[in-house]
Amino acid sequence: MKKKVLIIGAGVSGLASALMLEKIGYAPVIFEKSDGLRNDGGGLTLWSNATDALHSMGLLEEIYQNSKIMSETALTTSSGKTLATIPLEELATKYGTHTVGILRANLHHILASKLKQTEIKIGYKLVNLKETNDEVIARLENGHEEAGDLLVGADGIYSAVRNKLFPNHALRFSGYEAWRGIATYTNQYTKSGFTFEAWGNGMRFGFVPMSNSLVYWYATRKTSENLSKNQISKEQLIHSFREFAEPVPTVIEETKEKDITRKVIYDLKPLQNWSKGRVVLIGDAAHATTPNLGQGACMALEDAVILAQTLEQDNSISQAVKTFEDMRMDRAKLIVNSSWMFGKIAQIENTFLCDVRNMLVKIGSSIKRNSNLNRIIGHKI
Ligand SMILES: Cc1cc2nc3c(=O)[nH]c(=O)nc-3n(C[C@H](O)[C@H](O)[C@H](O)COP(=O)(O)OP(=O)(O)OC[C@H]3O[C@@H](n4cnc5c(N)ncnc54)[C@H](O)[C@@H]3O)c2cc1C
Repeated sequence: MKKKVLIIGAGVSGLASALMLEKIGYAPVIFEKSDGLRNDGGGLTLWSNATDALHSMGLLEEIYQNSKIMSETALTTSSGKTLATIPLEELATKYGTHTVGILRANLHHILASKLKQTEIKIGYKLVNLKETNDEVIARLENGHEEAGDLLVGADGIYSAVRNKLFPNHALRFSGYEAWRGIATYTNQYTKSGFTFEAWGNGMRFGFVPMSNSLVYWYATRKTSENLSKNQISKEQLIHSFREFAEPVPTVIEETKEKDITRKVIYDLKPLQNWSKGRVVLIGDAAHATTPNLGQGACMALEDAVILAQTLEQDNSISQAVKTFEDMRMDRAKLIVNSSWMFGKIAQIENTFLCDVRNMLVKIGSSIKRNSNLNRIIGHKI
């Protein structure tokens, strides 16, 4: 009989792991607390390491058809002066797969549409779990109980599964918030697949084409935890970024207010373990990172492939999830900590320090390209 896997959460990690577990002959069922698949959260940059994982899933061509392949990315000042560039097209030749910008909803749809047997139970919120000698039981808020051979906590940064497994973990407040928007917009950047992040004093703006005429953007600025519930309007956002070079003000202007969302940024201080017995955490539940390197969903895709590989190779579930943990933990820690540091540097407010930072970035960009960049986006499954 097929081994049954209870997957909590139908985000990138839940859907991708269901797909990979089906492929190795497991029988997954997904429990999602919301009333549908998530279609908020704008777009995503999926770097070469993520498209490599998608290649292993057999989805690369479909992803390319539903996204924008990136030619180059640049780090600039708010006035548009280039500090560093990464030739993504050239790197794709080296790494084997492209970096793309994609609507999050498109990625979710592609993953979900490939599931053959997995049922996605919508409106099922996990509230408790219990392990016996030969099974794990999930308890849902609506009173439903279900037993399986393995439970995968793919329930994001505020993971209920993690709360049960490791109640003493700590989320870290980054000190900044991110606004995300989607705009119908065309210029030479959207056509060529050029993406950039512009650094001002304590503020950043990122521009990511998702097709010739669709852009995903994000904007960050400092906040404090007690201000974190305050909203600002689109007009205030335009005002805050008015000194950024074009196309920044126009892109915000072109975005409908309903397509702008805000999120205060936290990450998860790296955990010592991601599994206990028949329960394992993946994606943000295991290693939520700040979005500065655009690697959270990329790592979730890598996780899904590696989890299936380890389960396929080992008859003991609890041993396989330990192997998964061993294989993934150093990489996740590297990315979480690098992203945290990157955020601290990128969010500097003081004008003098910003100038020093920008100069150092300019000098150091070629060195970085060869070391950390290769380790992060050149990673192969
Ligand atoms: C501003 C910003 C920009 C980002 N940009 C990028 C980027 O460019 N590239 C990139 O790779 N990553 C990016 N990320 C990170 C990326 O969004 C996350 O890493 C990714 O969504 C993690 O996927 P996940 O499936 O692990 O978690 P989630 O996407 O959070 O999915 C978890 C799912 O679990 C469900 N759930 C939660 N609790 C329960 C429960 N108790 N019972 C049942 N279901 C539950 C939720 O409803 C949700 O559907 C960004 C993040 C932010 C905040």
